[in-house]
Amino acid sequence: MKKGKLFNGITLPVIIVLAALMVFRYSHTAAKNKKAKHKVTSTMIAAGKDDNLALGNPSHATTDEVNKDNYLLVKAQYAMSYNNSKGMANWVSWHLSTAWMGSADRCNCFNADDALPVGFTVIKSSNYIGTGFDRGHLCPSADRSATPDDNAATFLMTNMSPQSPVLNEQTWEHLEAYCRQLAIQGNELYIIAGAHGTGGIGKKGHADTIANGKINVPSHFYKIVVVLPVGDNDIKRITNSTRVIAVDMPNRYDVNAYDWGHYRCTVDQLEAETGYDFLSAVPVKVQKAIESVKDAGPVN
Ligand code: MN
Ligand code: MN
Repeated sequence: MKKGKLFNGITLPVIIVLAALMVFRYSHTAAKNKKAKHKVTSTMIAAGKDDNLALGNPSHATTDEVNKDNYLLVKAQYAMSYNNSKGMANWVSWHLSTAWMGSADRCNCFNADDALPVGFTVIKSSNYIGTGFDRGHLCPSADRSATPDDNAATFLMTNMSPQSPVLNEQTWEHLEAYCRQLAIQGNELYIIAGAHGTGGIGKKGHADTIANGKINVPSHFYKIVVVLPVGDNDIKRITNSTRVIAVDMPNRYDVNAYDWGHYRCTVDQLEAETGYDFLSAVPVKVQKAIESVKDAGPVN
């Protein structure tokens, strides 16, 4: 009895101290977890600059200089497959979020791209003058306005294409502006733009080529836009219900008879037209779902 009483006398205060310690530890860890969780959330909502080629290389372009018509050109601001025979890109791929957007002025510095290997035809700004076609950006100037260097990169002639002025300044531009609006509204976007076919209608009528055949005039310009709320692990967040906007617009003076939404199509249609595999980094099952659906979302 005496022994038991002594035992109880010691254990009771010990139990109380232990319990108090446990409560303290629990509340401390809970507070810490709460802090950590908050930290993760705040990095998730901050827009960043991601890999311009994250969704894949649609034409398996390479940096082999012999591969002149599917030559991979990677810049900090965008990546492209350049086509020397056509004098323009097959496609340009870039990531868009507000992190890429700032207050840099439009430089209007249309420079020849000296990143092309020796032996490639150098396209100059003057090759477009008087042709009736605009020097149309594939990666838009306003999508790269965080720094003057970023903006200047969009004016390299490898990023230019002969667009009918009405397409460049209206229908095509309206979709560009809508993409930036989506970014401002809290999204990040992966965008691929390019062209296919031959023969467009510019200010001076129909043309198959300009600059003495150095530049092919495409019959159509296409664009694919994958829209995600700003976050991390982008590829993993692309699901069957991710919004994907695909368009195919004729390179004609009367393209503005309709606004951009009218020209929506499926990615599958563009893959059939170009022979490329777009969004190839996305799991095949998800590609099948998102590439077969025509976007019906808002247009402004
Ligand atoms: Mn433009
Ligand atoms: Mn695909």
